[in-house]
Amino acid sequence: MLIVMNPDATAGQIQRVIRKIESIGMKAHPSCGTNRTVIGIIGNSEPIDPSPFIDLLGVAECVRVTKPYKLVGRELKQDKTVIRIGKAEIGGDELAIIAGVCAVESREQTMLTAQIVAEMGCRWFRGGAFKPRTSPYAFQGLGEEGLKILSDVRDQFGLSIVTEAVDEAALDLCEKYADVIQIGTRNMQNFCLLKRAGRARKPILLKRGMSATLEEFLLAAEYIMAEGNHHVILCERGVRTFGNHARFTPDLSIIPLAQNLSHLPIIFDPSHSTGRRETVIPMARAGVAAGADGLLVDVHPYPELALCDGPQALFFDSFRKMVDEVRAIDQIVRGYQALSLDQAEDHCLPQRLPVSI
Ligand code: PEP
Ligand code: MN
Repeated sequence: MLIVMNPDATAGQIQRVIRKIESIGMKAHPSCGTNRTVIGIIGNSEPIDPSPFIDLLGVAECVRVTKPYKLVGRELKQDKTVIRIGKAEIGGDELAIIAGVCAVESREQTMLTAQIVAEMGCRWFRGGAFKPRTSPYAFQGLGEEGLKILSDVRDQFGLSIVTEAVDEAALDLCEKYADVIQIGTRNMQNFCLLKRAGRARKPILLKRGMSATLEEFLLAAEYIMAEGNHHVILCERGVRTFGNHARFTPDLSIIPLAQNLSHLPIIFDPSHSTGRRETVIPMARAGVAAGADGLLVDVHPYPELALCDGPQALFFDSFRKMVDEVRAIDQIVRGYQALSLDQAEDHCLPQRLPVSI
């Protein structure tokens, strides 16, 4: 249930509502909007009786939350969540490009890639130190040594670091070295790991399970938020279908739908979505056109020698081309988003695009 306060409710009245919620063994989650405060009641499995709250001073109304996820949904928080690490943002005014190596294999491979990512004006670097591999005999990552290399990337190039935690022990280490902790597709419903991520002091990049519905995806994010970590980024990375021409099938319609239901930013991974280099740039363009808040992309100085996911890694030149192209598309999409629906209809002729490429 949501308790909507009057626009002129005082801090004391808000505190009294919070104490009342806590006195019945529930958690209160206040969200201060521009006009009014809304307090979510979290922790109930049964519907809550609104009568103890409706007569409290400052309360405008009690509204039942219709969705199973509360903190993730737009009912409680209408404004979009923006994740910020220094100048790097996800969900803000700039398309977030998180690019880098699939796995940190060596200092040289990582630094060479980071240099190109920084030269292109990107603010985020990705690199796996702990790799979730299908085969137990495949390269599993450099572990803490890899995290130290990533930390050096931040020091040398000023890039914010995204890296994956495959279990709770890895998460402890990632929390120490990284800026954003990734939970991979295979762990989207590892509820113990999600709860641990919810207690982390770093933002979490949550990849969609390869067969997860939108609701399951949002409920996985709710696990993290319910533990107190409200800095969550969603990531579409392709799902399993009957199609076998690519590794997975990008499911781009989830981007606008997730944005309608949730205030959390959602980015798109064109690399893992198809696993094929020749599709990465076209799919990256499509993801940005669909309104993604950012991209997560694999790049490698020598893809043919990569220890992990070489066939999907972009060469440096293609990466540069991709960045230029998706930035141009992002400008167009933002131009349209800034227009009202009626105005957008007037602007549908190509010669009247709000910005030119
Ligand atoms: C990755 O981003 O390196 C990765 C393993 O992705 P996913 O969990 O989507 O397969
Ligand atoms: Mn990979």
